Amino acid sequence: MTDLDSSHIKLPPVFTQRGEATSLPRNEIPEGMLPAETAYQIVHDQAMLDGSSRLNLATFVTTYMDKEAKLLYAQTVDKNMIDKDEYPATAAIEDRCWRMLADLWHVPDAGDTIGTSTIGSSEACMLGGLALKRHWQAARKAAGKSVEKPNLVLSTGVQVCWEKFCNYFEVEPRWVPVTEEHLFLDGYELDKYVDENTIGVVAIMGQTYTGAYEPVKEIAAKLDEIQADTGLDVKIHVDGASGAFIAPFCQPELEWDFRVARVASISTSGHKFGLVYPGVGWIVWRDQERLPESMIFHCAYLGGDMPTLALNFSRPGAQVLLQYYQFLRLGKEGYRAVQQGCLDVAQYLSAAIADMGPFELISKGDTIPVFAWRLKKDHSDNWTLYDLEDRLRMKGWQVPAYPLSDNLSDVTLQRIVVRNGLSHDLATKLLADIKTEVDFLQQLDGPMPHEKRSASFHH
Ligand SMILES: *Cc1c(COP(=O)(O)O)cnc(C)c1O
Repeated sequence: MTDLDSSHIKLPPVFTQRGEATSLPRNEIPEGMLPAETAYQIVHDQAMLDGSSRLNLATFVTTYMDKEAKLLYAQTVDKNMIDKDEYPATAAIEDRCWRMLADLWHVPDAGDTIGTSTIGSSEACMLGGLALKRHWQAARKAAGKSVEKPNLVLSTGVQVCWEKFCNYFEVEPRWVPVTEEHLFLDGYELDKYVDENTIGVVAIMGQTYTGAYEPVKEIAAKLDEIQADTGLDVKIHVDGASGAFIAPFCQPELEWDFRVARVASISTSGHKFGLVYPGVGWIVWRDQERLPESMIFHCAYLGGDMPTLALNFSRPGAQVLLQYYQFLRLGKEGYRAVQQGCLDVAQYLSAAIADMGPFELISKGDTIPVFAWRLKKDHSDNWTLYDLEDRLRMKGWQVPAYPLSDNLSDVTLQRIVVRNGLSHDLATKLLADIKTEVDFLQQLDGPMPHEKRSASFHH
């Protein structure tokens, strides 16, 4: 008698099995089965062709967590966030997490605030926008006025989720253009955009294009003036996808959060500088009154009476546990260390890139650890930032070039997002690679052949 399983012995070696040595249908579910090992190997190997996430300097989303977090993730991957009756401990942790954020963002009354986790900032922004819309509708109806034409005031430099919000929920976007003088929403001429149909104003803490903070306090002061002149009381939603996890630790004096009385709600991405793998986001409202009761559903079929506030139903619960893990593991001290480390690397990189000669910085990475640059106006036409993007991609780095928004779309920027995991050491290697490629492009005596150029766009 032997304990060797002979069917296993007869299995051909890896890479010679059906599916690996033969082709599988691409767009139909195969008729037959594969051994688990073979299926694993095939999927694993195809995913290898994706770029290395750590070298992707386009994304804001976490690509590094430590091994205890990975272990926790693997152990809790089956938890469904919506099953609050089945997973009451996870539900309680979700509650604790948004309360911690409410506290971090200086909510005036911890007993009267409300919040939730979401799948990311996009869903959180949809909920924030909807609450503004519902509020406006209720007030208009109570005054016997029309609710036909809601509008939302925002910069053309907002993230695409706000275009989605306006499109999906039928709100007119009142775009405030970005100009060379006003690269972000700063309150300038706000009175031209706000009227009785304005449901709110969006302020971005950490603009996608440049990393800039929109000055929430100044925007609020402008809205105070507007209220004094017209009686319109317009609230602010702060889209703090990145900055709401940076400013509290690294720019604590900056007043952008619930310390500003006009701020009704704040959203953020747990999976950006919240330092959790995708996808988790958060939203907190100043007080319960700011979240209309009509947005909360009571659902009985999971057991118990569960209030739910979300666009999705089922969604992973593990990310919420990972957020709690990071809060405990890092504490404020740890978050400050990680975020300040990223800011230091960003400013080290931006200073060196400014020194190379052909570039002009648009931002230097002193708000969120994100910065962008453009070619100097008198630079040769032989190459563009898209060429530099392509050259760097050949070395494994993804450093996206993209047009600025709207009426500045003829300006091309290139941007680096410094995340936890882009160490000073790795940044030095990146600089050497940028230098090599810039030298190559600078010595061209004619234009780069542009039909080969890729113009990918990243948010
Ligand atoms: C990333 C981002 C979003 C969207 O966030 P997701 O978490 O990816 O859904 C919204 N607003 C801003 C400013 C962002 O940077």
